[in-house]
Amino acid sequence: MDRIIRCITSDGAVVISAAETSDIVYKASKIHKTSPVATAALGRLLTGCSIMGAQLKQKEASITLRVNGDNGSTGAVIAVSDSKGNVRGYVQNPSCPTEYYPNGKLNVGKAVGNTGVLNVMRDYGTGEPYIGTVPLVSGEIAEDITSYYATSEQIPTVCALGVLLDKESHEVLLSGGFLLQLLPGAVNSTITRIEKNIERLEPVTTMLAKGMDIKQICYAALEGFDVEILDEMLINYVCGCSREKVERAYMLMSDEDIRESAGEKGYSEASCHFCNKVYRFNKQELERIIEEKHRNDKKE
Ligand SMILES: [Zn+2]
Repeated sequence: MDRIIRCITSDGAVVISAAETSDIVYKASKIHKTSPVATAALGRLLTGCSIMGAQLKQKEASITLRVNGDNGSTGAVIAVSDSKGNVRGYVQNPSCPTEYYPNGKLNVGKAVGNTGVLNVMRDYGTGEPYIGTVPLVSGEIAEDITSYYATSEQIPTVCALGVLLDKESHEVLLSGGFLLQLLPGAVNSTITRIEKNIERLEPVTTMLAKGMDIKQICYAALEGFDVEILDEMLINYVCGCSREKVERAYMLMSDEDIRESAGEKGYSEASCHFCNKVYRFNKQELERIIEEKHRNDKKE
């Protein structure tokens, strides 16, 4: 079962959230039938998004990360998290070709692209989302999230994300990451110590493979500090789609388009990007949607 843990140093200068997302990324790879590099790109983004989502204070809030590389092969990579760290996501081109670095590591940056943008959209449930956009640094995702915090929010941040696949089957073995942030009031000696700790840390999936859990990863990053655990939560791959939500999407179309969507088959189908669930509506149901749409129009 996947989890997120959040810790703070007792002087309040450094916060860190770490997540294990192996089950989430495994599930995403099965839903979207992703190529190895698409699994890694989506898995990293889902992990970062879950950690950022779990930081949202408002219950109804959600966060959407959208990586739009101009010169990659994945197309857009999208992840959405609620305030409990539950995530969903997809890759525009899940079967994109996989290339490796000479050291055997998946070349995520090339697949995602290193020119383009990362959009971060926070929706606090008020209908007025807050959107931040930064240029991509490398397309490796973690560096792009770090750059987002540095440029858009002026928060010194270290982000590490990793997905480990089986060399032969390409199945997800491990996935996880952490986000460490310096809060105002962090003194120089704190910064120096954190830098040393981070330098010594191994990649997240290496630490997980050694049997370290996310709490131990936080403690390793904060070695030399007194640490308090803020909270710990279970996280999942969760899609909130429903027939009602799909009907509302139909209501944005013209009457004619709704009727025509049934075509010669006699029914209309819409599938969810995030979980691939297919919703089917027959002609009578489409007429009912049209009627309801007109009723709603009158109310407004
Ligand atoms: Zn869905």
